[in-house]
Amino acid sequence: MSLSEKIKAAGVVGSGGAGFPTHVKSQSKVEFVIANGAECEPLLHKDLELLIREPEEVIKGLRLMMQATSAKKGIIGVKRKYEERLKGLSSALKGTDIQLHWLGDFYPTGDEYILVYEATKRLIPPQGIPLDVRVVVNNVETLRNVSLADQKIPVTSKYITVAGAVKHPSTFSVPIGLSFDEAIAAAGGATVSEYAVFVSGIMMGKLETDMSRPIIKTCAGLVVLPVDHRLIQRKSLPVESMHRIGKSACDQCSFCTEFCPRYLLGYDVQPHKVMRSLGFTATGEQVWNQWAQLCCSCGLCTLYACPEDLYPKEACDKAKFDLKSAGIKWNGNREVEIHPIYDGRHVPLKQLMGKLGIAEYDVPAHFQEREFLPKQVHLPLLQHVGEPALPLVKKGQKVRKGEVIAEPATNKLGASIHASIEGTIAAVGQEIIIEQ
Ligand code: SF4
Ligand code: SF4
Repeated sequence: MSLSEKIKAAGVVGSGGAGFPTHVKSQSKVEFVIANGAECEPLLHKDLELLIREPEEVIKGLRLMMQATSAKKGIIGVKRKYEERLKGLSSALKGTDIQLHWLGDFYPTGDEYILVYEATKRLIPPQGIPLDVRVVVNNVETLRNVSLADQKIPVTSKYITVAGAVKHPSTFSVPIGLSFDEAIAAAGGATVSEYAVFVSGIMMGKLETDMSRPIIKTCAGLVVLPVDHRLIQRKSLPVESMHRIGKSACDQCSFCTEFCPRYLLGYDVQPHKVMRSLGFTATGEQVWNQWAQLCCSCGLCTLYACPEDLYPKEACDKAKFDLKSAGIKWNGNREVEIHPIYDGRHVPLKQLMGKLGIAEYDVPAHFQEREFLPKQVHLPLLQHVGEPALPLVKKGQKVRKGEVIAEPATNKLGASIHASIEGTIAAVGQEIIIEQ
């Protein structure tokens, strides 16, 4: 069995949030494989804790990926502020051809375009992917799962950080399909009676109020915040209201563009121009929408840069959706030239957390060894990029932990799903429920 077949059989997908099926990446031919351990989402530390706890598995996975892709160089991108805590990783790398690339503590260092540039000085072409500059990027947990896949161990667990308004912010390895409620309880429970969570981070994650939802393969963690927190109020606003306020209040100061990390890296993203698409324009929305095409939805413009608390990121999301619906592709400047102030205008994470009003929650979230024995797990058939997996089991059937219960349709992009606990299939729909 080739590595790609083993990865596919184990259901490995991007664990950093993207969920792209990893077996596809393992089939490319590149010069560099970069392990992304940048983890720039405020309060989340699951990659750091994994690198401290299982450095060998990450290194093994990286080496396997390098062999499969014929890459000559392996790089692990991590933050310099963790140099002391990552001594185990540094020693495990001594005498190998894999090097650490120390990153600054700014947001968003984990963006692929930024990470590839910082680690290799190569610039991905506009709307391109790392492969265009002969690089493959994998999250560090994905590489740990590649190593396990090589040992025929499928993906049944997930590293997550539970942070924010909880008694004991912690990182755990939990069975996939565990409810948010149970994950929050493991961190000592919420410190407030009414709360909501940002799933996989405040900047690029999703706001969720239903705590029965499950942890899936792409979940990096839960940030619990009181319901009256400003971030929750802002994120809860209907998107039409965000656009309506933007249309009447944007004064075109262009701070959103001046702080945009993609713009500073040399890409033609200009959210202040996209804001013009919200008003009545003689030239038409599509003219202004094009300045959003290369936006990575990092959220910095909305949550940090705009002095009026407007929503340029959401305007860019709308613009990208409208352009895609109209079948309009990027037709702008293909030349990428680093902005002269790129190095001087990074947004330090501490400063970002201050602006977000979450500095009080900025504490370590060390790994806690704990056995989770959920009575029930919910396993959605779509936990990855591509088509939902097709169920292979029926209600009432008994399954063992690690057994494949759904797989991608023939010739469709997707990933297999495995039982994360032993039990009986209680339901098969858009998700498979297993009960102990
Ligand atoms: S920073 Fe805010 S007010 Fe200024 S141009 Fe951007 S959206 Fe408009
Ligand atoms: S969300 Fe805003 S800051 Fe981030 S890439 Fe898009 S336009 Fe730039």
